[in-house]
Amino acid sequence: MDVSALATSFGARLPAWVLEEMADVPEALPTDRERLDLTNRLASRNHREDTGGPFAALVVERESGRVISAGVNVVLASDLSSVHAEVTALSLAQTRLGRWDLGAPGTPDLELVVNWRPCVMCYGAAMWSGVRRLLLAGDGPELEELTGFDEGPMRDDWQAQFAARGIEVAYGDSPHEAVAVFKEYGSREDAVVYNARGAS
Ligand SMILES: [Zn+2]
Repeated sequence: MDVSALATSFGARLPAWVLEEMADVPEALPTDRERLDLTNRLASRNHREDTGGPFAALVVERESGRVISAGVNVVLASDLSSVHAEVTALSLAQTRLGRWDLGAPGTPDLELVVNWRPCVMCYGAAMWSGVRRLLLAGDGPELEELTGFDEGPMRDDWQAQFAARGIEVAYGDSPHEAVAVFKEYGSREDAVVYNARGAS
């Protein structure tokens, strides 16, 4: 075979507006509310800027709220189906910290903040990453109903599976703010539903 045709690396990058948005964010977000507010804001802007789906995630230090990374869904911009917001945020945190294990001994506990319950892929990615806590804006059927995305066959006991591995699952108190972003996206004529089955 002609090996020169084979790709040997791949990568994704954040759209430029993310750093612009983050420049006004404090170094640390001490409360769950602040962490989720920022996540919802990034998710909303991601689709309004046409840089991807309405999804965002942060990796923060659990106690202090120091922000380690911010990620948005960059599937469309990167031509990579796996770069959901969670995978992007986890990968950027691992890149910044220079380690694959975000739960390495002797390091601060890290938390993944997401603007809804992760899909089946990100469920696995979160479990593999080493984060000790998941903070979610919500987890009901609204995401799929409003956006047309198929999040995959999540286990009914997904929270218990996290708990069994020492990973806490926590929720914010205003899921409607995340739902409003999904509504915005779902009402767009040109919304792209980019999962494998292409439901829309
Ligand atoms: Zn996902």
